[in-house]
Amino acid sequence: MSNTFLAIGECMVEMAPTGEGTYAMGFAGDTLNTAWYARKCLPESWTVSYFTAVGQDQISDQMLQFLGDSEIDTAEIRRLEDRTVGLYMIQLKDGERSFAYWRSHAAARRLAADADHLKAALDKAGLIYFSGITLAILPPEERKVFLSGLREARQRGAQVAFDPNLRPRLWESTEIMRACVTEAAGVCTLVMPSFEDELAHFGDPTPKISAERYLAAGADMVVVKNGPEDVICATKDAQTTFQPDPVRNIVDTTAAGDSFNAAFLAEFLISDDINASVDAGARLAGNVIQHRGALVDSLVPA
Ligand code: ADP
Repeated sequence: MSNTFLAIGECMVEMAPTGEGTYAMGFAGDTLNTAWYARKCLPESWTVSYFTAVGQDQISDQMLQFLGDSEIDTAEIRRLEDRTVGLYMIQLKDGERSFAYWRSHAAARRLAADADHLKAALDKAGLIYFSGITLAILPPEERKVFLSGLREARQRGAQVAFDPNLRPRLWESTEIMRACVTEAAGVCTLVMPSFEDELAHFGDPTPKISAERYLAAGADMVVVKNGPEDVICATKDAQTTFQPDPVRNIVDTTAAGDSFNAAFLAEFLISDDINASVDAGARLAGNVIQHRGALVDSLVPA
């Protein structure tokens, strides 16, 4: 198997308030967060690569520079002449965060527009990671191209890992979201949902039901996260539960699921041991939520 961990999705410019009318610029996105933590968790013998589309302008250059500085390989990223990257702004009101997005015309929406380019990137990967947001931003025709590329990758023996990350507002309708996410689960070796989303948008009464639903869709294994509650790992033949250590000093839960996925997958690729993988995921996520922001530089997974 190839030692390339390939994450696919949208990285955005983030504007975070620093005072009266001033903002700090950063880069963020669910799949990018996972790639960033995977780079920290995997040994140097692994390449962590990000696949997306960006523009040819200065802000796109800066995004690629940020990825490169994070030791994430950017060689496969498409550069489009007529588009640029998406942006969101964090707004604070009475201590509560809300988000304003400018992403409807983002270059990342075209990441699957060149099927040959996409296939060439997929062919090099030992593990491919994507999310429901990756799917949501694609035009419907290109979702088909994307899923058929993943299907082929799985058939040739690659791991295909998917976090449904259900965000109805990004989709044409909730029905289309459910159908597409179910179809996507069917091309995956590993589906990694968060129960809160599955309860809200599929109406699953328990995490076990979410796991069974994704197994029935065709996934080999399902890992259901549920905040401080048990993580469930299920295959057709077995089910195990794992209780994360309690975290008392929660500062910011941004990227809990993304960092869990990164550490889980890194350990799974190295040891193929489910218990050790859940333990690594829960330990990193438990650490991340004790710090502010999505990407916490100081955390070195043990
Ligand atoms: P998401 O960020 O996708 O909503 P979850 O909230 O389900 O993800 O959390 C992902 C993982 O982060 C959990 O499986 C758990 O390991 C860890 N985690 C999240 N919240 C807590 C918490 N309050 N206490 C301990 N661990 C937590």
